[in-house]
Amino acid sequence: MKKIAVFDTKPYDKEWFEKLGDHYTFKFIESKLNKDTAGLAKGCQGVCAFVNDEICKETIEQLEELGIPLIAMRCAGYSNVDFKAAYGKIHVVRVPVYSPHAVAEHTMALLLAVNRKIHKAYNRTRDFNFSLNGLTGMDLYGKTIGIIGTGKIGQTFIEICKGFGMRILAYDLYPAKNLGYEYVDLDTLFRESDVISLHCPLTEQTKHILSREAFHKMKKGVYIINTSRGTLIETEALLEALNNGTVAGAGLDVYEEEAEYFFEDMSGVIMKDDMLSLLVSKPNVLLTSHQAFLTNEALENIARVTIQNLDEFFEEKALTNEVCYHCQTGKIMENCRKNEKGRCF
Ligand code: NAD
Repeated sequence: MKKIAVFDTKPYDKEWFEKLGDHYTFKFIESKLNKDTAGLAKGCQGVCAFVNDEICKETIEQLEELGIPLIAMRCAGYSNVDFKAAYGKIHVVRVPVYSPHAVAEHTMALLLAVNRKIHKAYNRTRDFNFSLNGLTGMDLYGKTIGIIGTGKIGQTFIEICKGFGMRILAYDLYPAKNLGYEYVDLDTLFRESDVISLHCPLTEQTKHILSREAFHKMKKGVYIINTSRGTLIETEALLEALNNGTVAGAGLDVYEEEAEYFFEDMSGVIMKDDMLSLLVSKPNVLLTSHQAFLTNEALENIARVTIQNLDEFFEEKALTNEVCYHCQTGKIMENCRKNEKGRCF
């Protein structure tokens, strides 16, 4: 039986991998995968990794030394993988879709909660404080929402927003056709939106897409929602915009420097990240710890597709969900051999 080292394992990951993957032996490892922990995969034929693992050049070199030919990402995003270092050495597969609904619904949950101050109301009523002062929100009906990135999650979220009677403005490098909403340039989206929600991947182009300059262009009182990747927002600029009232509230499931903290119980240690402390201390910021994906349906799909990816690899089949240095953008395919070989190299 092939042995797979599953890094950064949580109890909720194990359940579905054990249920659906009984033809593999899984070595569940709590540590994140990085250059210091890669050695724990010794004796395994593949590794399974997650969003905040550091799959840098050194990590890849160590895995290669151990003779590991496959990294199976159990997530959609892959900004933490050094594809250049992996190309030609280790195949990287991922789970491109597991439940856009899980993430889109959490996005709406954040928007509703931060706008209607549900997090504050919850704390007040638990203390028998039934005052409504300071809890005024706005109707979402008739408001304009700017969606940056109209892929699977962006489109699913747009359908939810339409149900609320919101006007949709969209921005994407590759606009979808005939979906019944308006694509505009970023400046127009910044200028006209009452809510801005991020659904694009983290790339060199999208890093700090919400920068200080971008916040200057926004409507006063805009709500910012980010369930995509933390580094899409320049956190320092967001804090300034929260302080000067440009941003009325922010619902964040991701944070620029989350890798060190998110998914872990840090309640017993002194928080050294001052920006994170400032964000958490603001009553108009609602932070969740990268939990938008966390539904039963998504966890089952993640395990099922990851196991399919492993099966394809070990049965020497074409790798449906492989990504590489050349094809990771989905557009630059010239040097990727997927079309001819079914595998990127
Ligand atoms: P997707 O690939 O279906 O869609 C991404 C969209 O972004 C595409 O339409 C693409 O054209 C667009 N895009 C790429 N570069 C762009 C740019 N420079 N400007 C504007 N648009 C650009 O991906 P998806 O499944 O919808 O996921 C979106 C993001 O959600 C992922 O990249 C990931 O970071 C994040 N995500 C978060 C969680 C979570 O738990 N918080 C879970 C899954 C995914």
